[in-house]
Amino acid sequence: IVSAEFDSSRRRFPPIADLAAGVMRGERALLGRALTLVESTRADDRALAEELLERLLPATGKALRVGLTGVPGVGKSTFLESLGSMLTAQGLRVAVLAIDPSSSLSGGSILGDKTRMPRLAVDPLAFVRPSPTRGTLGGVARRTRETILLCEAAGYDVIFVETVGVGQSEALVASMVDTVLLLLLPGGGDELQGIKRGILEQVDIVAVNKADGGGETAARRARVEYESGLKLIRPALAEWSPPVLICSGATGAFLPELWQEVLAHRALLEKSGTLATRRRQQSRDWLWAEIEGHLLEAFRAHPAVASRLSAIEAEVEAGRAMAPRSAAELIALFREGSR
Ligand code: GDP
Repeated sequence: IVSAEFDSSRRRFPPIADLAAGVMRGERALLGRALTLVESTRADDRALAEELLERLLPATGKALRVGLTGVPGVGKSTFLESLGSMLTAQGLRVAVLAIDPSSSLSGGSILGDKTRMPRLAVDPLAFVRPSPTRGTLGGVARRTRETILLCEAAGYDVIFVETVGVGQSEALVASMVDTVLLLLLPGGGDELQGIKRGILEQVDIVAVNKADGGGETAARRARVEYESGLKLIRPALAEWSPPVLICSGATGAFLPELWQEVLAHRALLEKSGTLATRRRQQSRDWLWAEIEGHLLEAFRAHPAVASRLSAIEAEVEAGRAMAPRSAAELIALFREGSR
């Protein structure tokens, strides 16, 4: 049965050696196929995806990995469209990926939708990939890590990973990029209070967006407030206190200055050796995310567990059973059947 499954998978995808070579030549169509393979949840596809990633690994690690976060409406897509086009005009190849926390809840995805970035979507030097629309947030994050590697192997110089400001997804993005950029509205210091402290600690560069037209004065004022607000936050790196800038995605104003900060942050990470440490730590986090993901999948799929799971959940919800004992019972069922 297994070999039949492999056969069907091999028919749907080019041979892995060809796929890997095509990705490394930067061929878009083959990169698209490779991403489809990596995002597939079929077990036989997974084995091929892992084979592909192994082959590509030596060609990865060279891109600038930048995370972008901010509340819906702050202007992330407008910003990426402008900054991305500015970078492709310099001859850089730019990929935009997304982790959409709403997709795991609603099954729909807004982030990374190509229609949000019409110019980049048709730019031959850019690649826009919507957030995977299925699976848990952890699952989406696992696939996004792999997508970063595929894009690097395909020669993209800058990889943006976009998410929205709702907490968990930002921590995930921070766990796979070198530099985290937070966009804020010119609302002022109150906005900082709505953002979880743990997230601010992971931010490397802050920019007050929409500094254009009549909004520029407000943005400058907000910048001062944010600066004093951020002084209370322990920065991610002792040697880097996150700068607060202003910018406008709509007009492109101050984007060159902002990009200089991204480059300065990257240079510092390299010089201090933090880049290497951070990426080692990220690889270890990734290992554990994979282990957790696989174990949870196996747990949920286990017949004895699956048959009892909803009943036990209901008992715990109703307060008739306590979570620790119920968890132990399910784990015992899992262990029993796995021997
Ligand atoms: P996202 O939800 O964070 O991706 O935000 P969008 O890029 O979709 O922008 C949300 C709204 O803000 C849209 O109506 C944009 O036209 C507007 N907007 C985005 N960037 C700017 C900007 O730099 N200046 C101004 N004035 N408006 C902007």
